[in-house]
Amino acid sequence: MSEDPYSVLGVGRDATDAEIKRQYRKLARQHHPDRNPDDAAAEEMFKSIQAAYDKVGTKDARSRYDESKRMEDFFQNNPRNRNSNFSGFEVPDIFSQMFGGSRQQRNKNPSREKKGPDRGSDIRSGIDLEYSEAETGGRIEFDHQRLRLCPSCKGSSFATTRTCGACNGRGVRSRRSTIIVKIPPESKHGQKIRMKGLGHDHPVGVAGDLILTIRIDAKEGRRWESGRLIQSVCVPYSMLILGGKCSVKTPSGSSIRIEVEPGTQIGDRRRIPNMSYGGDDLDIEFTLKESEEITETQREILKRLRMEGL
Ligand SMILES: [Zn+2]
Repeated sequence: MSEDPYSVLGVGRDATDAEIKRQYRKLARQHHPDRNPDDAAAEEMFKSIQAAYDKVGTKDARSRYDESKRMEDFFQNNPRNRNSNFSGFEVPDIFSQMFGGSRQQRNKNPSREKKGPDRGSDIRSGIDLEYSEAETGGRIEFDHQRLRLCPSCKGSSFATTRTCGACNGRGVRSRRSTIIVKIPPESKHGQKIRMKGLGHDHPVGVAGDLILTIRIDAKEGRRWESGRLIQSVCVPYSMLILGGKCSVKTPSGSSIRIEVEPGTQIGDRRRIPNMSYGGDDLDIEFTLKESEEITETQREILKRLRMEGL
C-alpha cells in the first residue's frame, strides 16, 4: 500500500493546488540532501516528498490520482464489485465504471436494474479560488476533460461488433475544453457546485454531472482542516514558557494582539471568533519560532539553561 500523498505533504485533501506547491517547496527545502548530509532519514523523507508531489503536484496528476482513489474506495466499499484480478489502481474495465456499469453486467442481474436511462459517470473535481473571488462570486474558467460522444459514430458503435476506428467501439472519446463556472457570491470553502450534463457522456444514454468543490486558497502559514481554517502562529520558546503577547495577522487582513498563556505547548490551539474568511471563527495553532541564527549572548544563555536541565 503506497503512502497517501496528502498526508506525506501535510496538507488536507481539500487544499488548493497552490497550497500543495507551497508546502512541497517548504518540505523539499527542509529535507534536501544538501542541507542534511549523511542523514538517511532525511533522504528517505525527501524521496517520499518527491513521490507524493509526483502524484498530486500538477492539476492533471492530481485529478488522475483522486479519480483512481475514488475507484479504489468504490471497490473496497462494494465487495460485489471486487474481482480476483483487481488490486489497487488496476481497474479491469474503467469504461464500464464510467458508464455506471455495462449492459451485459446489468442484464445478468435484471432484478437489480435501475430505472431510468443509461447515464455517464459524474466527474468530481475541485476549483481553486482566491478568497475575494469566492466572496464576490463571478465567472471562472475551468479546464475540463471528459468523455464526449464520438463524432464519427455518434456512439452507435458502443457494445456492438461494429468497430469505429475513431473511438475503438467505445462510442466516446476524451475531449478537453475550457468551461465557464458561475460562482455564487459568498461561497464557502468546501461548497459544491453541480453542473448538470457536464460529466462523462454516455454513448447511448444521458451525460453525468460535473460536481466541483470550491477550494479557497488558505495562504502561507494556514491550512484547512475539515472545513476549518487553522493559522500557525510562531512564538519564541521563552514566550511559550513564560507567556506574553504576540500579534497575529488574520485572513481578513487585520492585525490583532493575543495573549499567550505561560506554559503554552506547541500545537495548542485557540479559537478566535469572526476572524477567518467571511467572518467565520479562526483557529490559531501555536508553533515554535525557528531561529536561523543565534547571537553569541543567546548561545551563552542557552548553555546555562542546558546546565540547569532545561
Ligand atoms: Zn466512434
